[in-house]
Amino acid sequence: MSHRIVTLPGDGIGPEIMAPTLELLRAVGDFEFEEHLFGGASIDAHGVPLTDEVLDACRRSDAVLLAAVGGPRWDTTDPDRPRPEQGLLGLRKGLGLYANLRPVKPLPALYDASPLRRERIEGTDMLVVRELTGGIYFGEKTRTATSASDICSYTTAEIERIARTAFGAARAKVTSVDKANVLETSRLWREVVSEVHSREFPGIALEHVLVDNAAMQLVSSPRDFDVILTENMFGDILSDEAAMLTGSIGMLPSASLGGESASGDAAGDGRGPGLFEPVHGSAPDIAGRAIANPLAMFLSAAMLLRHGLELESEAAAVESAVQRALDAGLRTPDLGGDAGTAQATRAVLDNIE
Ligand code: NAD
Repeated sequence: MSHRIVTLPGDGIGPEIMAPTLELLRAVGDFEFEEHLFGGASIDAHGVPLTDEVLDACRRSDAVLLAAVGGPRWDTTDPDRPRPEQGLLGLRKGLGLYANLRPVKPLPALYDASPLRRERIEGTDMLVVRELTGGIYFGEKTRTATSASDICSYTTAEIERIARTAFGAARAKVTSVDKANVLETSRLWREVVSEVHSREFPGIALEHVLVDNAAMQLVSSPRDFDVILTENMFGDILSDEAAMLTGSIGMLPSASLGGESASGDAAGDGRGPGLFEPVHGSAPDIAGRAIANPLAMFLSAAMLLRHGLELESEAAAVESAVQRALDAGLRTPDLGGDAGTAQATRAVLDNIE
């Protein structure tokens, strides 16, 4: 049976990088694609960035592939007007996506694009696993004329499920990042992560590192990390810091996974559809010029194959094709070259084995 993938091209360069990605997926397997309007394109057609019909289609799919949303056309400071980015929040919430995965693996051909010296980043291959639906971003907020507060709270069940995601993805070691010297939520975090570790994943090494120390180690010895596991706000900051190691935003994929209920009463088998998307936005400054770098999108499709559909060899085929194309000299303008989107796509397709 072929897998059903909902595709959301979105806005700006979104459609320009989605089309070649479907071509690439067709080259490695048999998939059924169902395309829907999302973001600004959906606001234009329906007045909202995410309709109930599209959310339902996503829920019924095996995986959701998203390009990017937004653009000056829909920029507004009027709180009553819809914004494309609200569609992203609606999708995360609607699919219960509590785990955000961002691999950071600078490719040898691009070592010199990194702001860090080659010797520092050589061999770096890490995954940042960020809790996405709890913590201070979602806690109660208060505001008076002279004070404000944001509550940070986590439950044992929320920590357990994200810890499982991290240990499940680790080859050798999980570095759990917290601020247990001052925060009560961090003390619970540390306790629960240690319990999940000794109970379910004793074969994987576990270390606890304070967030300030982790921020330093990310730039001083990024090679020492395998999987970084952390809560929502720390993960927001550390994943952007880690992303800079690779040098180009046009290269970074991400996955958001969900499915397991935080109330403890496992909602099914913990395998709801995941959302796969590049880290970059809709790049309105280059939209329509056929020069967008499709590689982050291709690598997001590889994550969809691996984490969304459990097609490991197909995922590896896409990743090595991207690597070989870069080794052979492929460079889009954001990487200092002059290859357009079509040329980059051809180069990767030619390297699929
Ligand atoms: P951006 O990521 O779209 O662009 C930043 C810079 O990187 C631009 O110069 C752009 O040309 C370049 N760039 C990005 N992706 C590229 C690619 N694939 N190939 C070549 N160059 C690329 O960020 P921005 O300019 O801050 O935001 C533009 C719009 O995208 C905004 O409306 C923003 O809200 C939205 N946005 C959406 C997402 C998303 O859909 N997940 C994420 C970030 C920003």
